[in-house]
Amino acid sequence: MLILLSDAFDPGLPARLEAFGEVTDDKSRVGEADVVLIRSKTKCTPEYMDNAPNLKLIIRGGVGLDNVDLEYAKQKGIIVHNTASASAIAVGELAFALMLSVPNNLIPGHCSMKEGQWIKKQLKRSELYGKRLCLIGIGNIATEVAKRAKAFGMDVVAYDPYVESSPHADLKASLQEAITGADYISLHTPLTPETEGMINAQLIGTMKEGAVVVNTGRGKVVDAPDMVAALESGQVRAYATDVWPSDPPPDDYPLLSAPNVVMTPHLGASSKENLLRIGDVIIDLIGKYKGEGTI
Ligand code: NAD
Repeated sequence: MLILLSDAFDPGLPARLEAFGEVTDDKSRVGEADVVLIRSKTKCTPEYMDNAPNLKLIIRGGVGLDNVDLEYAKQKGIIVHNTASASAIAVGELAFALMLSVPNNLIPGHCSMKEGQWIKKQLKRSELYGKRLCLIGIGNIATEVAKRAKAFGMDVVAYDPYVESSPHADLKASLQEAITGADYISLHTPLTPETEGMINAQLIGTMKEGAVVVNTGRGKVVDAPDMVAALESGQVRAYATDVWPSDPPPDDYPLLSAPNVVMTPHLGASSKENLLRIGDVIIDLIGKYKGEGTI
């Protein structure tokens, strides 16, 4: 069995995988690979899968499977698996860090001091305590954000049409109801036809003026030109995002130069602890696959 590591994983993973067969990170050997391990960079398109006649198993270290053509993989009998809940703490902590950065003026405070300025009086802070957080999607990651928000004394509501209840958030029946009155809105849905462009001018217009939007879900869930307009008008106070329409985004992506945007380069799942956790799940999945030929 040839296992191809096509993206970056924990440096200790190749040695652990050797128990199952030959391991390589040479992408030119994709044509011989039985198992391909990917994160978000490799795109498993039909052409990619056609070039890998031996391929039986794709494991995506992480959650979103939007870089794999699932329908085509199914047609070819290729099993596709993610490492589902492994990343929840890592991404949840980053979402919370992005959220904390805004009311604490961390970015303007840092940048102004680097420029030799002392603008203490201009940089008014506010607290998360007592504010309302709306989570859109209440799966594994949002649940970790909710737990942390509760510890900070926030009032946590959520919208998720596929979840019946949550012990960590007051679930609202509609998206509109959930965002109404929210001071912070944190996005945690996958990218689907239903969620693409979900945060658009119409919805933004019904947000509380000066709401903060945090996105560690997927970049395309937000309509970029509509968000730029909302940041320019002050309807949205800040947009703090880890996710982009592509990694990296095109140079002319309008949110790169908009005011009050806090940006990280898709770091959510990249904690060293999470890479180890992802490695554990991969070892478990390959072990099961090798033993049973299925997962
Ligand atoms: P999850 O599957 O546990 O939760 C996703 C939730 O979204 C589910 O509860 C689902 O019902 C809900 N949902 C689906 N469509 C919805 C809709 N139209 N409206 C409201 N809710 C909807 O996944 P997760 O582990 O919590 O991850 C969430 C997303 O975070 C992933 O799909 C991925 O896009 C993103 N992610 C980002 C990073 C990063 O590095 N920033 C890392 C991992 C995952």
